Amino acid sequence: MNAVSSPSPQFFYRPFPVAHRGVWMAGALEIAGLVKQYSPQIRALDGIDLHVAEGEVFGLIGPNGAGKSTTIRIVATLLVPTEGSVKVLGRDVVKEQQEVRSIISYLPEEAGAYENLSGEEYLRFMARFYKGDAAEAVRRGIQIADLGDRIKSKTKEYSKGMKRRLLIGRTLMTDSRLYILDEPTGGLDVLHAHHIRNMIKERIRRTNTSALVSSHNLLEVEFLCDRVAIIHRGKIAVTGTPAELKARFSAGNLEDVFLEIVGHHHDGVKAPSMVQGNIAGATAPSAREAP
Ligand code: ATP
Repeated sequence: MNAVSSPSPQFFYRPFPVAHRGVWMAGALEIAGLVKQYSPQIRALDGIDLHVAEGEVFGLIGPNGAGKSTTIRIVATLLVPTEGSVKVLGRDVVKEQQEVRSIISYLPEEAGAYENLSGEEYLRFMARFYKGDAAEAVRRGIQIADLGDRIKSKTKEYSKGMKRRLLIGRTLMTDSRLYILDEPTGGLDVLHAHHIRNMIKERIRRTNTSALVSSHNLLEVEFLCDRVAIIHRGKIAVTGTPAELKARFSAGNLEDVFLEIVGHHHDGVKAPSMVQGNIAGATAPSAREAP
C-alpha cells in the first residue's frame, strides 16, 4: 500500500525532543537507495541518495514528474518507500514515523486552511497542538504571514496568495528540526514571494534548523539553498552548491545548469548527464565540443 494514515494536526506542531539532539550528528536528512514504485509501470524514484547536514537548506529541483514531491512525501512520512532508507535526524521515517512527525514541519504543494476560521483563529487552532509557547508561535505565524488586518478575515475570503502566506506562517511558526517546503512561494506575487523567502531564510538561519525545499523557481532556490540536487526521471543527476554547479557547467545561473542537464532531452537530444543514468559527474562544458 502506498498511502499511510493521514497525520493528526499535531503532526505539524510537536516540538522536537532536545534531549536527543546529540545523537543526531549524522545529519538532518539521510536518504539511501530510495526507490518508489507506484505500479509496475511507474518507478517514480530509482535509487536516490541524499545527505542534508544540520543547519543546511537543501533544494530539490527538477522537471515536472521528476520525483520531487514523491521524495518529499516520503520524508514527510506520508508515503512508504518501496526500497531504501530515509532518516530524519537519525529517525527512520517508516519505523519511527511518530518521532519523525514530531520534529518536522511540512508545507505541502497543495494545502488549505479551515475556511470558516479567520487566519488568526486558524493559527491559534493549530498552535493548540504545539507543546511549546503557543502564544509566541501565533505571534510569529502572524508576522510571517504578513496579512495585516486581513488576518482577522475568514480564510474563505482569502486570495490564493493570501492562503499560501497563512500556510507558510503556520509551517514556520513552531520550532521544528526539519522544515519541508514544497513550492513555498507558488502562487505568490513578486513582493510577497520576496518577503516569504526572507522569512524562511531568517527563520532557518536564526534557529540553525534545516530545510528541504522544492521549487520550480530557480532564483528562489539560488537565494535560499546552500546546496541543491537536480532530480530527473527519478534519479539524482547532480548535487552541489549553486556556485559549484554554475562553475562546473560554466553557467551564469541555475536555470542554465538545469537546462544543461534536462533541457537537451526535451529537444530530442540525449543530455550528456542522462547517458550514464545517475551521473556523479555530468559532462562539464570544458569536456564538450564548443558549439
Ligand atoms: P511536479 O514538478 O510536476 O510536481 P514532481 O517532480 O513532484 O513533479 P512527482 O509528483 O513526484 O513529480 O511524480 C513522479 C512520477 O510519479 C510521475 O511520473 C507521476 O506521474 C508519478 N506519480 C506521482 N504520484 C503518483 C501516484 N499517486 N500514483 C501513481 N503515479 C504517481
